[in-house]
Amino acid sequence: MTKKYQILIVLGLILFAGFTTTSLVSYFTAHDSLARQIEENTLPLTGDNIYSEIQRDLLRPIFISSLMAQDTFLRDWVIAGEQDSTAIARYLKAIQQRYDTETSFFVSDRTRNYYHPQGVIKTVSKDDQQDGWYFRFKSGIAPYEINIDRDTADPSRITVFINYKVFDYDGNLIGVAGVGLSTSMVKQLIDDYQRRYNREIFFINRFGRVMMHSDTYSGTDQIRSSPELGLYATRILTSPSSAFSYEANGRTVFVNSRLVPEFNWYLIVQQASNPSSEKIYNTLVLNLIGSGVVTLVVLSLAWLTVSGFQRRLEALAHTDKLTGLANRQMLDQMLPQQVALARRRKEPLSCVIADLDGFKQINDTYGHPAGDLMISSIAELFTAVTREADLICRWGGDEFLFILPNCDQAQACRFAEKLRTAVENHRIRVDKALVGLSLSLGVSELGEQESPDDMILRADHALLASKSGGRNRVSEPDTALLVN
Ligand code: GH3
Ligand code: MG
Repeated sequence: MTKKYQILIVLGLILFAGFTTTSLVSYFTAHDSLARQIEENTLPLTGDNIYSEIQRDLLRPIFISSLMAQDTFLRDWVIAGEQDSTAIARYLKAIQQRYDTETSFFVSDRTRNYYHPQGVIKTVSKDDQQDGWYFRFKSGIAPYEINIDRDTADPSRITVFINYKVFDYDGNLIGVAGVGLSTSMVKQLIDDYQRRYNREIFFINRFGRVMMHSDTYSGTDQIRSSPELGLYATRILTSPSSAFSYEANGRTVFVNSRLVPEFNWYLIVQQASNPSSEKIYNTLVLNLIGSGVVTLVVLSLAWLTVSGFQRRLEALAHTDKLTGLANRQMLDQMLPQQVALARRRKEPLSCVIADLDGFKQINDTYGHPAGDLMISSIAELFTAVTREADLICRWGGDEFLFILPNCDQAQACRFAEKLRTAVENHRIRVDKALVGLSLSLGVSELGEQESPDDMILRADHALLASKSGGRNRVSEPDTALLVN
């Protein structure tokens, strides 16, 4: 694997790790703070709101019962000996109608008569199981209670009774008065809260028994037997309020409990779904997609930049700065390929080495910059007369090497002659003088078993022959041999 890919992979990993870490950290932070907010703020607030609604809706009957217990007419009528039962029936009917309650009642402790808007409907007795509530409540210390029971007037109906103790002016118990509400009405109230607050709401008593719930409630009758809430039952039932959450079906359920002292019940508010956390999750996904896109863009830019630099570095490493021609490194790379191609195609391959005659003189006479100008202008000249397929390399200071594919020695000699003539006719202007020089060349063709280095060596020998033969000429190896 090249360094370039390694750099891109490392860069990609750094970006990916960076983006993923920040996205996940912000996701979990938002998730936690949302959970905390629901647990500590939203749910208790909902609990408070519902609590005040309950005070309005359900404490009203407690208040009505309390008014009945304080009512002088009721107390005077009992103290006077419960003379006219139609008067008390009228009184109870008026309460029932004015406050729109399901029922209203008074149980006298002296006569044990159960008064109802329709009159006396029965006498409560310790022996009647149905009347057990009266004796239990009477012997307790609470001034009132909420009791869900079968209606004495209509046993098929379950009613929420508010029982209130009635005392005479000396503080002696003279009976129990109160009103009853239909459970369907209470359930409707809970339904209404649930709809408005989008939370599950129900009541449990001090022992964890579910006392009131809406029709949509799907939990257990006793929270201790609930697989999830059961774990928190002790916590709920031992503190006036609590807040916690549990996992169920892959979702977090937030729970808030609160003791309603007037009922001696706990209000439980549950939020099973958490719409904002979906939003946070979507943001995480969007963040990750965005990070992916940014990573890809950064990697593409890095790829383009690195590739550009690489190309420039390669070009710098393979070209001669002054002339823009290939340098020796480039030749070392290209020559074996050219040789292999020629051998495969069974085509001839030749080379020409050219060296400027008396070039040092130009440097000495006109200065080094003029020498540079001469070299670069001759390089341009060479490029102009050379085929596209040929490779020109700056071999040394004023020495050039040509690799000529599909070209035999005779053709190479003709090409070398062309170069020689071109240089002979070439002039550059230095100051006011026109300066020119000549070129000596050596030619060789690659032998069947020969290595490229040997071919170049033979051309070099031929060049030496040209130099020693008087310069400004082309020599072939045979000639060179003849000269040597
Ligand atoms: P000969 O006919 O024997 O080749 O004589 P010459 O004067 O050309 O001598 P030779 O080829 O041995 O020397 C080439 C000189 O070119 C030597 C060096 O100072 C000069 N030279 C080499 N590279 C550069 C260059 O990039 N710019 C300039 N201005 N001069 C260079
Ligand atoms: Mg020279």
